[in-house]
Amino acid sequence: MNYKSTRDNNISVKSSEAIAKGLSPEGGLFVPDSIPIISESNIKYMAGMSYTQRAKEILGRFLTDFTDEELDACINAAYTKEKFETNAIAPVYKLSDSQYVLELWHGPTCAFKDMALQILPHLLTTSVKKLGIERETVILVATSGDTGKAALEGFKDVDNTKIIVFFPDEGVSQIQRLQMCTQEGKNVFVSAVNGNFDDAQNGVKAIFTDKEYESFLQDNKKALSSANSINWGRLVPQIVYYFSAYCDMIAAGEIECGDEVNICVPTGNFGNILAAYYAKCMGLPVKKLICASNKNNVLTDFINTGVYDKNRDFYVTTSPSMDILISSNLERLLYMISGGRADVVSSYMAELKENGIYTVSDEIKNEIKESFYGGCADDIKCADTIKETYEKHGYVTDTHTAVAVCVHNEYVKETGDNTKTIIASTASPFKFNGAVLSALGKEDEVNELDEFRLLEKLANDYELRIPASLKTLEEKEVRFEVVCDKNQMKAVINEFLAN
Ligand SMILES: *Cc1c(COP(=O)(O)O)cnc(C)c1O
Repeated sequence: MNYKSTRDNNISVKSSEAIAKGLSPEGGLFVPDSIPIISESNIKYMAGMSYTQRAKEILGRFLTDFTDEELDACINAAYTKEKFETNAIAPVYKLSDSQYVLELWHGPTCAFKDMALQILPHLLTTSVKKLGIERETVILVATSGDTGKAALEGFKDVDNTKIIVFFPDEGVSQIQRLQMCTQEGKNVFVSAVNGNFDDAQNGVKAIFTDKEYESFLQDNKKALSSANSINWGRLVPQIVYYFSAYCDMIAAGEIECGDEVNICVPTGNFGNILAAYYAKCMGLPVKKLICASNKNNVLTDFINTGVYDKNRDFYVTTSPSMDILISSNLERLLYMISGGRADVVSSYMAELKENGIYTVSDEIKNEIKESFYGGCADDIKCADTIKETYEKHGYVTDTHTAVAVCVHNEYVKETGDNTKTIIASTASPFKFNGAVLSALGKEDEVNELDEFRLLEKLANDYELRIPASLKTLEEKEVRFEVVCDKNQMKAVINEFLAN
């Protein structure tokens, strides 16, 4: 199988090249040139497998230039009981007869990005090696919190890589800061940047587009790379857990193989739900994909009207990882739905860049509506849902997951469709403890206690176990205390790389 670019059909590369490059040179995203089909009997067979075996089934269909040994090495390094605190890796929790919560947050940083960022470093270094490129990969990340820590954990002590993370000095929570500044590993560096997320992000972007710096690094056998969600190596591992959840439901006797399910995903960049769409195209019996947004509901409007319009107010919400107005991975959906029309996708993306808005054809709009339902929930609805879900089912969800539960509840009310639904749960409630406890009526304590006492409160009041990685955080040694200005970022990188 080869990979094309969403903006140029003449480009065709192997999966290792797609992963090593990240982005196609003309700005398009890499997409597989065909969709592998997993038959019903295959799915039935996978129901008896472990998570790592299921991962091999799915990844093997896409990464066709990887050997069996290479795939095994990547998968076995990523998905271990030590890292995920459970053999199931991504267990399914039955909330009710129609709602099944797919818990994607048992990894080292307690959010779903671990599912891809634990394996991406191995896919990336294997790809670079396969291509015979002699270089050290330098991962550069600007983060508003979650991605940076997940990338640090994924890349720590991975051979032939270094990783440097910049976070805004004014923009992360106490726990997020400590998670990053106590990071272990020989090849990691973390620095705060004076300013907000945009300052950190713009600084990193400027370094990525600095041609002179690029050739300087090249002369030193180094190359910059990014860990963000447009890399195919981040998307493909996410397809696995939708198959895995369906298999778990078969194994538990909740469904028969072949029964249709819905999948509901709290969405920002459209990566996680796109992986579910790939699963559907591959033969997973999915009826509707329910796309759940917070108050930044650009995707809800797009699915309902066919108009993508980012010219709107930006809201800071209690589900910050979904506060996004440009959903990068939507480009891959448009490519698939238009039947591989790179010219059409290119023109939409050009309009988005120029005017911040584009309108898809009626054909594309209708095709999207066939597969997707779009809904949104603001902070008040989200908090009400956390409370209601706990009162009804005794289950505490984080804010992002609650957005999905809320939108699914509304979908059922509106359509009467009671099909069993897999709801992607993207973060542990401990990660967003303040907002979760407030929703549960403990606002006073939230105002009085620091984040570590809130972890204990959440655990004690609701009989939950604090994830090991958060529990030990307070005692960990702080390794990184640098705060730099935006124009010092390159110097910080150089100093680290020189050692
Ligand atoms: C990144 C993130 C999301 C959004 O995922 P996308 O792939 O960008 O749609 C949702 N919830 C949490 C907790 C996240 O970290």
